[in-house]
Amino acid sequence: MNQPSGVSGTKAGDVAASNTAGVSGTKPNDIQETKAAPSQQRPPRQQTPQARPEVEAAADGAYYFGSLAVSYDMACALKNMAYENPSPVQEQCIPTMLTGTDVVAQAMTGTGKTAAFGIPMVERVDVNKQRVQGLVLAPTRELAVQVRDEIAKLSEFKKLRVVACYGGQTITTQITALEHGAHIVVGTPGRLLDHLSRRTLSLGNVNMIVLDEADEMLDIGFLPDIERILRQTPKARQTSLFSATMHATVRRIVHRHLQSPEWIQVGGEVETAPKVKQVYFEVWDKDKVRGLSSFLQTQLNGGKALLFRKTQIGVDRLVQSLQRDRISVEGIHGGMTQSQRSGVMKSFKEGRLKVLVATNVAARGLDIPEVSHVINYDMPQNMEEYIHRIGRTARMEADGTAITFVTEWDMEMLDMIIDKVGDDLERGTLPLYE
Ligand code: AMP
Repeated sequence: MNQPSGVSGTKAGDVAASNTAGVSGTKPNDIQETKAAPSQQRPPRQQTPQARPEVEAAADGAYYFGSLAVSYDMACALKNMAYENPSPVQEQCIPTMLTGTDVVAQAMTGTGKTAAFGIPMVERVDVNKQRVQGLVLAPTRELAVQVRDEIAKLSEFKKLRVVACYGGQTITTQITALEHGAHIVVGTPGRLLDHLSRRTLSLGNVNMIVLDEADEMLDIGFLPDIERILRQTPKARQTSLFSATMHATVRRIVHRHLQSPEWIQVGGEVETAPKVKQVYFEVWDKDKVRGLSSFLQTQLNGGKALLFRKTQIGVDRLVQSLQRDRISVEGIHGGMTQSQRSGVMKSFKEGRLKVLVATNVAARGLDIPEVSHVINYDMPQNMEEYIHRIGRTARMEADGTAITFVTEWDMEMLDMIIDKVGDDLERGTLPLYE
């Protein structure tokens, strides 16, 4: 609907001024910080502001993202991001969130949920008010950075200031960024509380809060921190919650902190990403490393694999074993420094690294494009974990394969998975046993 009709938006004066969203890269403090963790500290967009693209208004004079009316600034940003149509979760969330209604959305990473809350949040910020108006809570520093970057892109032409506050980065850098004024803050609960107690952040004017990956935040034990943060925000605010699963604690937080929310669910209660091919390999525990190694060497075919392990030490050991087999592989887990993690993520994202071994916690919320294989090297502990992990492949309509290694100790969990996903899970044979 609403076919655009010939209004061009390109004028010399429309070239956006440099948006300092995120942590500004121009002060001495930041230069130091950049050295510590390069990929996380850089401003989220190019130093040179992007020119406004040409967007056309529809016959009614409005700008549209699919069937959703958006501002001219937003239409330009979406065009630059090459988002042509809203994903299902965006289609459902954006109009509701624009009205200020609380929303509970059950949606996995990879469905476009960041823009589902990012677009209405950016649209609703009053850029003339130099106050924090939007707050996003995220479970990990990686997700916080990712959300900050996406919101910065969405606000490219509205010129909002978006600041990320997360542990692992010198707090003074964030204080400087906050002092320069922020319209939207994205942060992990612990670091946000730190800023609140130092009074370097005030939430007295926040009117939009998003709890992103709420189930993960609660699993990590952030409930008390989240509640302490919410208490420092005005009662008359919009609170939205995004979660891949809706377990009891998530529902409790909805009940306690949201007001008459609209429930939005994309797909079924236990949803698997539609195009994921799910395969399991039975393997003797003693053969696991060899089985994996031969699989990666023969079956990856230039693809990218994300492997899951239960523990940090398990990640390190597996990486060492695979490296002995000359496989280019790195690990990522919470025991590594921020700059190590950033470096690994960068080479994986850029495709120089093809195999990444991660713990659950480290992998949460990471937006890793083009992962062709997710491999549950260690069996997930429960169904939610299984769904969450395999949601890392086949994102936004791409094809992907989710592989689960099943040893003699994992039969019970295998039965549970088969119970839930049924025929979607096929049995395969490892090259080692062929
Ligand atoms: P998310 O679920 O927010 O992590 O998004 C997953 C991926 O989909 C990211 O790489 C986004 O940039 C991309 N994405 C989100 N919304 C759209 C859209 N409407 N069109 C195309 N790509 C999108």
